[in-house]
Amino acid sequence: MTLSKNKFDFEELLNRHHLKKTSPRLRVLSMMSSKSTATSQPDLESVMNDIDRVTLYRILSAFEEKGIIHKVFDLNGTANYAMCLSNCEENHHHDEHLHFNCSNCKNVYCLEELSMPAINVPAGFKIEALNLYATGICPKCSKKSPAK
Ligand SMILES: [Zn+2]
Ligand SMILES: [Zn+2]
Ligand SMILES: [Zn+2]
Repeated sequence: MTLSKNKFDFEELLNRHHLKKTSPRLRVLSMMSSKSTATSQPDLESVMNDIDRVTLYRILSAFEEKGIIHKVFDLNGTANYAMCLSNCEENHHHDEHLHFNCSNCKNVYCLEELSMPAINVPAGFKIEALNLYATGICPKCSKKSPAK
């Protein structure tokens, strides 16, 4: 396995957010950052069946609050989480990238490399959060079943 360029120093990350370095927290971070798609709590539960659901839930909410991960919804309406880029802050996320929902495998991808169009809202409106979702077929699924 090669080191991905998005490899985080998880211990340093927890330190920076004043979170204690516990093994469940480090495992959640390493699993989430190793995937190219967002991860739901049930996904984590199936891999880390020695960590109870309440603990996992608390880890995810703490990470989200600290600006380490962000929440995205899949087509089933299930909350999924993905690693944030480093510019997210506590209680202030900047994950304004396209979230691609695959209608076949139901995975959610963060397409961070796309540049976002500027959104001009009418006077009087102030954008605090912007969510962009696209639905379609991901590269993995289009390989499996070529378009008709
Ligand atoms: Zn974020
Ligand atoms: Zn897919
Ligand atoms: Zn994202």
